[in-house]
Amino acid sequence: MTVLHDTALTQELRSRLLKGELLTLGDFMTVALGHPIHGYYMKQDPFGAEGDFTTAPEISQIFGEMIGLWMANFWQENLGPPQRVHIVECGPGRGTLFADLLRAAKILPQFYNCISGHLVEMSPTLRQKQKDTLRPYLEDGLSITWHDSIDSLPKDAPLLIICNEFFDALPIEQFVRTPKGWAKKALTLTQDGHLDFCPLLPATAHEKNAFPPASAAANTGDLLETCFIGQKIYRQMMSRIAQQKGCCLIFDYGYTESALGDSFQALHKHQYVSVLDYVGDADLTAHVDFSSLLAAGHKENVHQYGALTMGAFLSNIGFTDRARALQAQASLEQQQQIERSSHRLLSPDQMGNLFKVIAATHADAALPAGFAPIHKIS
Ligand code: SAH
Repeated sequence: MTVLHDTALTQELRSRLLKGELLTLGDFMTVALGHPIHGYYMKQDPFGAEGDFTTAPEISQIFGEMIGLWMANFWQENLGPPQRVHIVECGPGRGTLFADLLRAAKILPQFYNCISGHLVEMSPTLRQKQKDTLRPYLEDGLSITWHDSIDSLPKDAPLLIICNEFFDALPIEQFVRTPKGWAKKALTLTQDGHLDFCPLLPATAHEKNAFPPASAAANTGDLLETCFIGQKIYRQMMSRIAQQKGCCLIFDYGYTESALGDSFQALHKHQYVSVLDYVGDADLTAHVDFSSLLAAGHKENVHQYGALTMGAFLSNIGFTDRARALQAQASLEQQQQIERSSHRLLSPDQMGNLFKVIAATHADAALPAGFAPIHKIS
């Protein structure tokens, strides 16, 4: 049997269970990632070679730069001067993507002068890291506001929203098909006091109504994941874009057709571990079900596009041209580094196919760059 490594959070969860508290798998994920003291994102900077995982903006500066140009293009085509805009990033990590995006935006002063920045971030540690990364822009007079959730985003101008690996960090619930119907997984204690998950709670009618289409084909023993919180946040974003105008671009590790199966996973120092191991010291994620997000957005007056693979989208918006331009002014070592990082993001056998991207715009906006009319789904 695998030996699990106890942490302060394992002990806290154990004592909450012994007191009779009911904690679903989603509650477990919320605590493990967001506990004010011991939560994974709350106490540390988890990125890079020293950390647990790395992300597209940490791999290549071109990623954030291309997003900055994509937003500038959207603004020029649909809003234009003198229209002010709020650029919003949800889950900005170290602030790397936002800094790269701003650097590219600065090339177009007309656009840059209309921007204010908004970062939706729950972690005080990462907020500090973001302030450090973005200090040159803050000192330059750019207004950047931090938010606990998207609820407090301003309503007085269009929103240009970017999310990279934000939705995969939001708590999911898992349901198991039993002979008596769907049952939601909750945290339990084994006889020897270890944490475990069991399908304990019958799914409510409300939950079953929100299940994705794949649930209809389930057999006994099959597992279904839902991210109700992600769908709710996405729909709120769409409602804001419909009311205020603007767009969003969402990248994540995920799938395009609703499906059954378990994608809940934990990473600790670049190694996969059990989701119940190193609680609060391991990153927890679940693949994003893009079809459920798009279905939630369909209820608002917006146009949605995708999902495309990240590799196809980045190629469409000129990632490779930008890489060539950078290589032309770089040392041999830098040229090789640019080659490696581009390969990692674009190649189908690396992140290119695993990561997907969707976009949404207000209803009368032009086709966003990187997407063709066939990618429009509503
Ligand atoms: N976008 C960054 C980091 C992705 S990791 C990158 O690509 O490098 C997930 C980020 O989302 C972290 O900054 C984490 O603190 C933040 N986060 C996770 N759940 C959140 C929530 N519910 N509300 C706000 N921020 C959250």
